[in-house]
Amino acid sequence: MTKRSRLERMQRLRGKRKRVYVLVALGTAAVLLAVSGGAAVVLHSARVAESAAPAVPLAAEDTSQTILAKESTSTVPIEVPVLVGMQLAEATHLLTVAGFVVVPVGTPPGEAAPGVVLSQTPSAGERAKAGSTVELVYADPAAVAAAAAGALLPTTAPANGLVVCIDPGHQASANNGQEPVGPGSAQTKAKVTAGATGVVTRQTEHALNLALALKIKERLERYGVTVVMTRSTEAVDISNAQRAQVANEAGADLFLRVHADSNTNADISGISTLYPAGNDWVAPIRAESLKAASVVHAEMIASAGAADRGVKARSDLSGFNWSTVPSVLVEVGFLSNPNDDKQLATAEYQDRLADGIARGVLKYLEVTP
Ligand SMILES: [Zn+2]
Repeated sequence: MTKRSRLERMQRLRGKRKRVYVLVALGTAAVLLAVSGGAAVVLHSARVAESAAPAVPLAAEDTSQTILAKESTSTVPIEVPVLVGMQLAEATHLLTVAGFVVVPVGTPPGEAAPGVVLSQTPSAGERAKAGSTVELVYADPAAVAAAAAGALLPTTAPANGLVVCIDPGHQASANNGQEPVGPGSAQTKAKVTAGATGVVTRQTEHALNLALALKIKERLERYGVTVVMTRSTEAVDISNAQRAQVANEAGADLFLRVHADSNTNADISGISTLYPAGNDWVAPIRAESLKAASVVHAEMIASAGAADRGVKARSDLSGFNWSTVPSVLVEVGFLSNPNDDKQLATAEYQDRLADGIARGVLKYLEVTP
């Protein structure tokens, strides 16, 4: 996607945000606020008697979301409740009773039921002051057309014999049992580690990796590519060597490993793509893997607009060393960086990443739309 069309799409998405009107009683003055896209604008103010009903009619576009916030002189932050999984109307009611301002953002529903809340910012358990905004990303069937305009063609293509094995990194629980870092090696590593956790959202890397992998799968299948997943659920126990063997046994044209990064320095952000190199095990797949990594990386960076941390060779990863097919590992951002973490939690950003990664894979496989 070009920068321009990305911008246009974002503008379209913003245009979909419904206005929420909040009447805040401050002593004897009532102030009507219109909140759109996170910015609060004072529309109108009027003097009202303390005991009287609101003098200002709440002529909002969507009356179900019109609310009268209680007077709140307290500045003590309160806990944001769990909203993901609720219907938007229900979540909106809950938040507004608590004094928050709701900013709904529609996104294509995918498998989700229409109206269901898919993510929230701030996340559940975080503390925020009354009057602050809570963004709710919800499944909106009307958002499909907007997304499709900037995404890959939504048609189903005939099978083309190509196979991609996608490995959503990690799993619900780590397995610290050891396995050789490569075939016949005396050196061992943990079978599969726990992965990172979002510094702000507390999202887990294994869940994020799976969500992204499923989005990539769906996009590749539209082009007739057969996708083999190393896992489709969280509660599995599959080591990194075993994951490579799934790709080998599938005869995959590409083994795509999906991960998010983490660093003790919270300032570090951006995207990198890893490929196998530097030992005898991966010598046969090195050149093709680098070719795939380069094109996937370029498309991912272009689509996500994230900081570019480059394409990097790795000789120490079991999931590469056991592979006999071209392999790449995308590190889609740093869960240890607040901005990356928050972005990665949104369906809109995940879609952009999946678009870019899928486009890169298709380019590498020379599949023409
Ligand atoms: Zn990881």
